[in-house]
Amino acid sequence: MSETHPAVRALQALVRHPTVADRDPARTDPAPFVALRASLAEHFPLLHGLELVEVEPHALLVRWPGRSHARPVVLMAHLDVVPVEGSWTHPPFGAEIHDGAVWGRGTLDDKGSVVGICAAVESLLTEGFVPARDVWLSFGSTEEVSGTTAVDAVAELRRRGVQPWFVLDEGGAVAAEAFPMVAAPLAVVGVTEKGVTSVELVAEGAGGHASTPAANGPTARLAAAITALERSPLPLHAPTPTLELLRRVGPHLPAPVRPLLARADRLAPVLTRVLRSAGAEAAAMVRTTAAVTTLSGSPALNVIASTARAGVNLRVMVGDTVDDVLAHVRRVVGPGIRVEVVERNEPSPVSPWDDQAFALLERITGELFPDAVPTPYVMMAATDARFFTGLCERVYRFTPFRMTKAQRGTIHAADEHIGVADLLAGVDWYRRLVQELPA
Ligand SMILES: [Zn+2]
Repeated sequence: MSETHPAVRALQALVRHPTVADRDPARTDPAPFVALRASLAEHFPLLHGLELVEVEPHALLVRWPGRSHARPVVLMAHLDVVPVEGSWTHPPFGAEIHDGAVWGRGTLDDKGSVVGICAAVESLLTEGFVPARDVWLSFGSTEEVSGTTAVDAVAELRRRGVQPWFVLDEGGAVAAEAFPMVAAPLAVVGVTEKGVTSVELVAEGAGGHASTPAANGPTARLAAAITALERSPLPLHAPTPTLELLRRVGPHLPAPVRPLLARADRLAPVLTRVLRSAGAEAAAMVRTTAAVTTLSGSPALNVIASTARAGVNLRVMVGDTVDDVLAHVRRVVGPGIRVEVVERNEPSPVSPWDDQAFALLERITGELFPDAVPTPYVMMAATDARFFTGLCERVYRFTPFRMTKAQRGTIHAADEHIGVADLLAGVDWYRRLVQELPA
């Protein structure tokens, strides 16, 4: 019975620990993390007999020695989850099985990957398998709060002189309904990710009693700045991984549209405009985006704000720099608004998709998900993988699980769930990847 498979029981055990981290480490409840580590040790005893490197108490860095110690691979995932929001059909930390799926926070993001990797390694260890080269496992515990556990793992690998052949973290999936008019799922492998940068727009004035307002106060100027930003988005451009995705998707489109994408490189400007108009998800593929997220003014209804603030979350596209984007924002909002930079992150370097490492991911994906179209793409969300780009030129972001469009919508939202069969197919994918690592 697949529902009693050890990997399924392990996932249920992990999901039942509400490992929600806080941006302030002092405010993170350590108990669920301690319990989760104990569950991992209980479900994957052979893996825990490998070399466990102490980096941070709640994270896990493991070295599995292979026949060669040169150019190892690093398999990543994260142990923390985002808090529960919205109304759930089944308890979010219950890990109940309904309709052939395990329901709960973290089933897709990212405890499914943790279990996929660990169950693959555990089963290979049971068989006495020795990989062709060292395999490192790096599971952070602060991914969702931009913490430092992945940074610490990178520092430890650097200290040991480890130079990975490639690094694989969570990211794209075997995504159904991923592209308009294409019936085949796309197995999207992130070869880069946008840079997350945040600013606050600040307008200041004299404040005062709300009964005697002056014209053009801080709140009015801030509102004008927000509207201006919305009306002047950053310039459109499709980076090379997006063009490659279009080229690969082309043959799967209805005949009349096919020739258009076969010449994606030359038709980039046209396609870019098409994507911009094809909904929010597609539009984010062709430009740096800006979202106004937080707003604050006066604390009382009868007090005029002396300071009004708006937080803007920017996702910097490959090809733009943070400085380009900040210059654009400053120009658009004008001199009356101060732009304070809260965090700045450049987009990640682009990993190659024309060499042996990517070809390996592509081949295994083709064998296990024969209906899917493997393709590189630009990840829109941030992952811990970005911290590894200084250590390794090949950093890939792929989660080998089938996900429907509806399921992708449950990540960081309500009703997150993973199909039992999909989890087990993912275990097979990681197994095959380790088995087929070349010498
Ligand atoms: Zn994640």
